[in-house]
Amino acid sequence: MNRFEFFKEIAKNAKVLGEEWDKILEAALIMHGHLCGAMPLGFRTGRLALRVLDVEREPNMDMMAFVETGIYHAAACFADGVQFSTGCTYGKDLIKKLDYGKWAVTIVIKKDGRAVRVSVKPEIIQAVFKGKFLAERKKGVPPTEVPQEYILQPFINTITRPDEELLDVSEIFTYEFKPTPKPSFEVLTCEICGEMVAENKMRVKEGKKVCLPCSGYEV
Ligand SMILES: [Zn+2]
Ligand SMILES: [Zn+2]
Repeated sequence: MNRFEFFKEIAKNAKVLGEEWDKILEAALIMHGHLCGAMPLGFRTGRLALRVLDVEREPNMDMMAFVETGIYHAAACFADGVQFSTGCTYGKDLIKKLDYGKWAVTIVIKKDGRAVRVSVKPEIIQAVFKGKFLAERKKGVPPTEVPQEYILQPFINTITRPDEELLDVSEIFTYEFKPTPKPSFEVLTCEICGEMVAENKMRVKEGKKVCLPCSGYEV
């Protein structure tokens, strides 16, 4: 069985979460690339936040995800699970890493600020860290080279267990957004490299309109 067929088989377990969740998990696995402990937890965390807020997975740009895992974090993969279950993707600029080193996400509806924070229960995180998969990862073994039987059943369990065994949920609250600039729909040509650049990222250097890399300025 090739990798994608393997992912499709595993994703079938997500049918217990409701219609189409197997397709979303399959997409998440294809994009993420490997089985691990954190991605499916992010997947479940994001999904529960949508249920509590009673909203669909985000097709447009109307929701934000604030993920508390961060950089240099063993559970950085958590954020990919959140992206796929919520539709709050990096490309749409709907996901921010708060870099707290915690396993939680706050989902916010942009138009009214309605928000909920969902976190992984401490005992679930402890179980992941005591597992054979993470012991190999700590030694520096890449996820796809860890014997897959170490992670297959834990992965499936994370996908199929009831929400209340895995996750804690806050009350719904109102999130106060700080004002942010509107996206730019203007594009200009850099006068040095000739590439197209969003207008709000142009800089002026020696009288020329140039892109950031050509300007030599710090971002
Ligand atoms: Zn991963
Ligand atoms: Zn340039």
